[in-house]
Amino acid sequence: MEFKDRIKITALTIASLAALSSVIFLITSSSSFKHYRRRRRKQQQKQSSSCYLQSHQKPQLSFKRVLLDNSFSQFKHLNLHAPNSSNLHPYEAEIKNLIENPESFEDLYSDHQKMSDFFSYVWIETEAQLKDLAHTLSKHKVFAVDTEQHSLRSFLGFTALIQISTRNEDYLVDTIALHDAMGVLAPVFADPAICKVFHGADNDVLWLQRDFHIYVVNLFDTAKACEVLSKPQKSLAYLLETYCGVATNKLLQREDWRQRPLSAEMLEYAQKDAHYLLYIAGCLIAELNLQDKDNSNCPNDKFDFVLEARRRSNMICLQLYSKEVEASPGESAASSIFSRHLNGQRVSSISYETQDLVRCFCTWRDLMARVHDESLRYVLSDQAIVSLAIKGPTTPEEIFDTIAEADLNVENVNLNSSLPSPSSVVCSHLDDLYYLIKDKKRNADEFFLQILQNCLGPNGSCPLSVYNYALLINCDQIMKNRLVSKQSPVINSKQVARKASRELFVQKFSCKSPVYHNCRIYANDGRLLCYCDKRKLEWYLRRDLAKLVDNDALAIMLLFEPKRMHFPEHLKSHRSHDIVLLCVDCHEVAHAAAEKNKKQVAKEFGIPLFVRKVVDSKEIPVISESSSSTMNVEETGVSPLQLRTAAMALLRHGQRMPPKRHEELTQIVMQYYGGRREISEEDLERALLVGMSPHERRRLEKKRRFSSKHYSEVILLDKEQTGAAYTMAVSATKNSLEKAGTTDGLKTIDMKSAGIKEQDYFMVEDTISNKEMNSDENEASDTKDEYVGNIDDSCEGGRGPLNGTARNDESAPHKNNLKLSLLGHGPHGKQVVDHILEEYGEDGIRQFCQRWRQVLVEAIHPRFLPAGWDVMHSGRRDFGEYSVYNPAYKAPAANT
Ligand code: AMP
Ligand code: MN
Ligand code: ZN
Repeated sequence: MEFKDRIKITALTIASLAALSSVIFLITSSSSFKHYRRRRRKQQQKQSSSCYLQSHQKPQLSFKRVLLDNSFSQFKHLNLHAPNSSNLHPYEAEIKNLIENPESFEDLYSDHQKMSDFFSYVWIETEAQLKDLAHTLSKHKVFAVDTEQHSLRSFLGFTALIQISTRNEDYLVDTIALHDAMGVLAPVFADPAICKVFHGADNDVLWLQRDFHIYVVNLFDTAKACEVLSKPQKSLAYLLETYCGVATNKLLQREDWRQRPLSAEMLEYAQKDAHYLLYIAGCLIAELNLQDKDNSNCPNDKFDFVLEARRRSNMICLQLYSKEVEASPGESAASSIFSRHLNGQRVSSISYETQDLVRCFCTWRDLMARVHDESLRYVLSDQAIVSLAIKGPTTPEEIFDTIAEADLNVENVNLNSSLPSPSSVVCSHLDDLYYLIKDKKRNADEFFLQILQNCLGPNGSCPLSVYNYALLINCDQIMKNRLVSKQSPVINSKQVARKASRELFVQKFSCKSPVYHNCRIYANDGRLLCYCDKRKLEWYLRRDLAKLVDNDALAIMLLFEPKRMHFPEHLKSHRSHDIVLLCVDCHEVAHAAAEKNKKQVAKEFGIPLFVRKVVDSKEIPVISESSSSTMNVEETGVSPLQLRTAAMALLRHGQRMPPKRHEELTQIVMQYYGGRREISEEDLERALLVGMSPHERRRLEKKRRFSSKHYSEVILLDKEQTGAAYTMAVSATKNSLEKAGTTDGLKTIDMKSAGIKEQDYFMVEDTISNKEMNSDENEASDTKDEYVGNIDDSCEGGRGPLNGTARNDESAPHKNNLKLSLLGHGPHGKQVVDHILEEYGEDGIRQFCQRWRQVLVEAIHPRFLPAGWDVMHSGRRDFGEYSVYNPAYKAPAANT
């Protein structure tokens, strides 16, 4: 490559790297760039362990089937009929039918008697009890329901208790303990033949949908009955007092209903809320009937009180839960703050700066609440936002004090609220608030991404959960779009590169088309790992290895880090019997095992892996250590690694190199060519390929095509070849042989006659061995030092070829992939295969392949190999599921 070209590419890459880093720094002015960066780093260090959630357990974190997350995505309703149809009410037809064709209602009021005052209740906290309850309820014509919610320490809230009363019994259902099992009650709630009595069901109906996909069909709402009867009040407290002579303290509804055990007072309150409902409903229906009888004297009046109450009740059932939507996060809260809190001043008198700050705090609060699954009011109060915006504190300490003071003032007025102030969210992310106030050039979008990156990005400060993982996925998507359109940031180039490489790997090699039921498996950091069928998904859920994150589209999030666990492989649908798909981590394990086996093979066959010294075949034949030839190559030859390193350095940096180093390297190359002639650039290029397997050559060539057009003219490229850092999906045979370094040997084997199908099975293979890379580094370091940061490094990295595939985020330098495997071992493999063929024939090759399958199986303990899959691969016997190890949570950690 010409020096000038190199400079150009260097400049280009540096420019794109700079552009990449801009997103994070966009919100800072360029003058404070360095300071910001230093502080940022400090902050990140501090953050990495400072989020309060790292040591804080919230009950909802133990829920496994969570129907909604805190992202901006739409809530997905139960899909009863057509999959993927629009988000309609699953029981719309049944409910409308009830409204239009009401059946007689006798049960509810015919034998209504005053409820006895209650003493006992049944606490439901196990699945067995819940099933019994469902069974019991299915025998009733009517039952009463009430729910208690928790909303302070949750972004969208969750149901903490359901009270169900029949005429005979009061049940208190612990919906925290039974969160994942509550679907058991869905049928009785949806049964049009069973009437459910609520008081003021508007919220309860939506909450049941939100948390459990429970849809109420056939509702009688006592509050609606009050409406129709034009009662002076329609509160439950009023009805309890009027009809039952019972007093209730409604303040208890604000208690923390998550607590267990519930206090006696709360239990009593909860039970009371449902216990009298059937009786009250009976009374109200009797009154409604009375009204109808009175009206029957005037046949012109078609108004039917009972029907109207029932109609209004069932109209409530038609409501659908949905998440609140706003143009940008925190927007509506900001508007309400302007109108409520800043109204003392005329809006025009509020400075633009203050308004802007209020909006930013609202955005921050909204996102932090989503990330941490907390309510807005828990994160930061409105009055604190107003104070912050007006006072503009300039240090983290001042921010702290401003918030505490604002909340204290309000608390004096309203003694009921006793939230910690500042909240734990603010305390552990005080620095974010500080920069928010400090940074003058704010851009809502960038800010938004910044928060998510800080919290949930690679090395983010806050734990990922079922509630915020989708935010991360969305954020990634936004980032990616930005990267493509804007050429943006390096948050931490190394992390981004690593993450990107994994993403790329997953994207590239996981199944792309729907497989089986198209269920998705996400890693616990939000990565989409692969697709699987429903059975596997259930397998994970049953063993507490995963949480359901999307019930409708069926997706789970793994609760363990795949790194520590041998993540089971999933089968590609179209070749399910042939393919073993490995996750990135298993692939690493498999690779290590294969390397080990390769060495073992070398030892057994007495065929060393590496050629120690090479000379130009035109001058002297290639000599390997294993060769019986006694030619003295020690003096004439040179190691392939040394040769290629030297040739590479000369080609890339030759012109800029200190003359002394240039001379040394030239000597090395000359040693290969017999030391008898001048070294041309073509010689150098030829030397680069010495000792490489054809496979490695192709990779190198492909890589260099991207780093220099010059090379692409010299080298014929196979465009279909993947030149990715990770190569994969080689057939069993090919893989095995390649593992033994026998790509050349392949050509000599008639695969069909050897009974080996090209697609016996697939295995992920990483051809860059760390060891080889390291030795490369050692050898090449003295030449590379001067050119640290040179783009050639990034171009030459394993990721090089992928730069062109519209994934600009790939262009971040990725040190681990900068080096090539300079040790070829073609001769070894060829010799092994030749040896096997000669000694044992095709059977030997078959056995050799089996041995490699065995290595794979033993290395990664696959649990889901296809039925009939067999190390021996001896026909079509159906072996069922290949189950080598028990599916313990702490599975053997392979090579870690
Ligand atoms: P209730 O059935 O009246 O006890 O209310 C059901 C749930 O609604 C309670 O558990 C609370 O979470 C919520 N709720 C109702 N009214 C209020 C209120 N005024 N303040 C706070 N939470 C309330
Ligand atoms: Mn209640
Ligand atoms: Zn946090």
